[in-house]
Amino acid sequence: MFEDIRLPVWFKESYLNEIVAVGIGLKKVARQFVPAEYISIYSNILKKNGFEFVLLTDKNYFYVSRTKEFAKKACQYEINIIMFYNNQCDFDVFCKYVRKLGVLLGFPDCCVEFYLSCWLEQGITLTEKEGKIYSSEPNYAYWSYKNTKKIYKIDFRMNNFHFHSLLSFFPCSYDCKSALDYATVLFKNLSAEQRTVVYEGLRGTFLVLDESNMVIFKDSGDIKRNVVDYNPKKVMFRGMDKLLMDSIKNGNKLELGKNKICVFKDDEVIYEYEQYSGPFLLSFC
Ligand SMILES: [Zn+2]
Repeated sequence: MFEDIRLPVWFKESYLNEIVAVGIGLKKVARQFVPAEYISIYSNILKKNGFEFVLLTDKNYFYVSRTKEFAKKACQYEINIIMFYNNQCDFDVFCKYVRKLGVLLGFPDCCVEFYLSCWLEQGITLTEKEGKIYSSEPNYAYWSYKNTKKIYKIDFRMNNFHFHSLLSFFPCSYDCKSALDYATVLFKNLSAEQRTVVYEGLRGTFLVLDESNMVIFKDSGDIKRNVVDYNPKKVMFRGMDKLLMDSIKNGNKLELGKNKICVFKDDEVIYEYEQYSGPFLLSFC
């Protein structure tokens, strides 16, 4: 369905999973952010393939579904959710619409409740007059990690940090069985070609500073006591501090301390990076 030559390869590969999930009924609605320049092309593709959609224009979010009614509902729930960010509705109303949207998006209940618990933990401020009000977006990745018992050899299907991800939500932990079931069904329903792309993309050791800053070590072997031996030619970056990025490119071993990252070249420290809230490592294979 993504045969349009005006679309870049990354677009075709990363938007497909969600469309397949809607197509097989794993979710009633997919929510997708689409860069402005691709909106009209993508709209035509969806129409041509029998999908209904609603566009939330100021966010460039598409709500894609088999039925217009579900797409409209999802968009309306999101509008209600956004009101909380502007302190125009209270936290209980926010929770109500997050749960409703979660059902349409096919997210497991445990992971939706986890998402709300992150807000309680980190995202809201209690005031005497207004009650629970928005303060800042929680670091969901960190809380998913905190809940995870096994950070080594996680099933690659659970990796939600990559644009080929099968999960479009944060799992309540990387051991969450419901999230893995969801990802397994979706993976099985992809074409053989897309399965290869997803498998290659999702494997690797991920150093996560936050959702927009991370390092991916390909073929690095497993994590040993928070140490990664890696091949500097097989490292990828997303976001990231320039100095840290350059030192990782020049090194071949990384050690994660409590709030610190040390980069080594042949056992000699070449850079130390301090970060207040703890970075973490997850290894997907
Ligand atoms: Zn869960």
